Amino acid sequence: MGLSGASARGRSAVPTGAGGASLGPVEPVAALERIAFLLERSLAPGYRVRAFRTAARVVDGLPPGEAAARAADGSLESLKGVGPKTAQVVREALDGQVPGYLRRLEEAGGDSAGAEGPGAALRALLRGDCHTHSDWSDGGSPIEEMGRAAAALGHEWTALTDHSPRLTVARGLSSQRLREQLDAVAELNTRWAPFRLLTGIECDILTDGSLDQEPELLERLDVVVVSVHSKLRMDARVMTRRLTAAVRDPHADVLGHCTGRLVTGRGRPESEFDADEVFAACAGSGTAVEINSRPERLDPPRRLLRRAVAAGTLFAVDTDAHAPGQLDWQILGCARAEECGVPAERVVTTWSAEELLGWTREGRVPARVAGA
Ligand SMILES: [Zn+2]
Ligand SMILES: [Zn+2]
Repeated sequence: MGLSGASARGRSAVPTGAGGASLGPVEPVAALERIAFLLERSLAPGYRVRAFRTAARVVDGLPPGEAAARAADGSLESLKGVGPKTAQVVREALDGQVPGYLRRLEEAGGDSAGAEGPGAALRALLRGDCHTHSDWSDGGSPIEEMGRAAAALGHEWTALTDHSPRLTVARGLSSQRLREQLDAVAELNTRWAPFRLLTGIECDILTDGSLDQEPELLERLDVVVVSVHSKLRMDARVMTRRLTAAVRDPHADVLGHCTGRLVTGRGRPESEFDADEVFAACAGSGTAVEINSRPERLDPPRRLLRRAVAAGTLFAVDTDAHAPGQLDWQILGCARAEECGVPAERVVTTWSAEELLGWTREGRVPARVAGA
């Protein structure tokens, strides 16, 4: 399958399956995928989203004309994976209507990426995302769906960064499975040019600051995000040593969600560490500080983000998406970046794939940044 949306550069008019809030006639599969995307973006429960993603796959796999024939004789629901709600969407789309379910979601805020709101100026400059997950670890969707959605959003590149081995609760990838994933990504990229899915990992920072994957394998990856997922409450001095050691590792490119805080539900307090020391280590080693856009994280908090700006670090505005619709969350991180005075040229997710890889592989920073 090709990537029909990959070359669309417009941010506001995104093709089917991702953005694209125009309420004209819509193909059944596109309608189902768009509904799933909007549900994911609004953090709807996984089971609701899955019904639409599953139905999209089933309908997409039907021989030409079969969906219409089944809509006519009332047998859409007898297909495994198609229920009353999803069948209704298919019937309305085939009828040339905007399905009611889709219309209601669009009206409730489908086109969130306004052209002028907070973060919009920086969002318009973004070309990629350094932190995403697939169903190979704890994401909800296959690599292919994540890549297609990222391209449809207008990205030139996106890094796939599934978890590392010791994060077993998130089905972290063994070195063997990561090697298999590299082959899978290479195969997809042969069909997706010019969009490029970069290889990567969200690598656990172990308690001593070392990284949870073979160095030889980290060396092969395009993007290495390093994050703390265990022992978040350790003593501040030990945590400072842990983080500084990790960001100075030559393989580390991005420090993920640095405080580990959660700001919704029961929440989770920030890990304690000497932020100035950690950000100085990031600046000195060329490791970017992530601005994590997940609504429940929004990490780092503003006061720390301003300190990172002062320390002169690079930044990555990332989604940490675990489903295609969540790839649209970057606007949240962009708004915070603007608010805290993050210079756009220091945001690596505004760089071209070539510039990004020059930085992750050789530590080269574009001239316009070096002079900033
Ligand atoms: Zn993480
Ligand atoms: Zn993550």
